[in-house]
Amino acid sequence: MRSEVFPYYYRVLLLGKPAKDLFVSVLLFPRPICCYTPEVMLEVDITIVGAGVVGLAVAHAASGTGKTVVLLEKEPGPGRETSSRNSEVIHAGIYYPRDSLKAHLCVEGSARLYDFCTEHRVPFQRIGKVIVAATREEEPSIEGLYRQGVENGACGLKMISRSELKLREPQVSGTCALLSPDTGIIDSHQLIRRIEALALSKGCTLLYNTRLTSLEPSPKGFVCAVTGLGPEHYAFCTRALINAAGLHADAIASLAGIDIAEAGYRIFPVKGQYFRIRGRKGRAVNGLVYPGPEKGLTGLGIHVTKDLSGSVRLGPDARYVTEICYDVDPGRATDFLKSARRLLPFLTEDDLMPDMAGIRPKIQPPGGDVRDFVIRHEHDRGLFGLINLIGIESPGLTSCLAIGSLVKSLLLDACLL
Ligand SMILES: Cc1cc2nc3c(=O)[nH]c(=O)nc-3n(C[C@H](O)[C@H](O)[C@H](O)COP(=O)(O)OP(=O)(O)OC[C@H]3O[C@@H](n4cnc5c(N)ncnc54)[C@H](O)[C@@H]3O)c2cc1C
Repeated sequence: MRSEVFPYYYRVLLLGKPAKDLFVSVLLFPRPICCYTPEVMLEVDITIVGAGVVGLAVAHAASGTGKTVVLLEKEPGPGRETSSRNSEVIHAGIYYPRDSLKAHLCVEGSARLYDFCTEHRVPFQRIGKVIVAATREEEPSIEGLYRQGVENGACGLKMISRSELKLREPQVSGTCALLSPDTGIIDSHQLIRRIEALALSKGCTLLYNTRLTSLEPSPKGFVCAVTGLGPEHYAFCTRALINAAGLHADAIASLAGIDIAEAGYRIFPVKGQYFRIRGRKGRAVNGLVYPGPEKGLTGLGIHVTKDLSGSVRLGPDARYVTEICYDVDPGRATDFLKSARRLLPFLTEDDLMPDMAGIRPKIQPPGGDVRDFVIRHEHDRGLFGLINLIGIESPGLTSCLAIGSLVKSLLLDACLL
């Protein structure tokens, strides 16, 4: 940490104080203080950046082990970015290449998530999903998905005929479909709150309105500088740093000195917008209805999702963007309708209403190859203790608990836990 970052600050010795005392004192102190001298600095064992569902799941897995765990979040509460702006689907693990982290963590994560929801009373429904071939030409790609899903270990997959599809989804038009009975929907907000409460109860210190602004390797791990609501910086030392910063994970890796272009860590945000189906037509499906996925797996195709209140949304589309903006463009209704009418021919433009948007933290550049999750201890880059989680797009919500447990095992392997 360069000392000029703290030119005016008072120095206080906080040796031996638990992390939460430090930050409570920081928050209450009317004037800037510094928790830092080069020789004496507060030390914590594990710091996690980002209180999305993934960072929280890591905090939950790593807390209660006798180590100090601190979670930093720049927003005033948990899950304010991608974790609360998604389709809330518990995926079965169909789409992802065999032996990829996405496939493995999705299949394991889905089983864990259903158990977790049951045990901790998080609302969910295993409503099932059909991936529909709109025409005979699309059938081979849907059968390919079936084989892929079976290889990945997704449970209960079955190809169904047109008449079986009609029985399940009378309003949906298609020639055959892949049925995934194990796909479900979840209340992501309640999931986030539940994991947050469990991490807190196991002694994790959660610091909202706290942004990591600099990161420097030191003999004891990393010196982290953070800002709160004011302009002041505070610094502390951590043995391990878990980067779960979602759309900003490349920026955090860069703070650690990694060349993100060379490492393939640059994030190319891909926006996904949703439209809601109004009125009675919004009750037209019983489960989740998907078309075949888009070329290059940029998205899963504009699909029909239901939330737990029973209302139905179309989306998300997939467009590379250069800014983080969650507005929905009403002008997209025509394109949405064109895609949706292949499966739900009775829809008209008047039935659609702009809803919400989320942004995928993709590391797949425009036109580039499909990329897997990056979950990596960076010791071979000379950054012992830094674990990067980058490109955690879908199925990140489904996989969150499995990711938490994978990160825990990386920490254990490195004797950091
Ligand atoms: C349109 C869309 C639909 C999706 N649908 C599904 C689905 O149906 N099923 C599924 O399994 N997955 C789905 N996903 C993926 C899923 O939502 C994500 O994988 C998951 O939410 C990622 O969680 P996260 O914790 O990694 O990231 P985030 O939720 O983005 O959390 C990262 C956090 O880090 C914080 N942060 C960033 N920088 C800093 C800093 N410097 N200091 C402190 N804090 C910082 C941010 O404020 C943020 O809160 C979808 C995603 C999108 C965009």
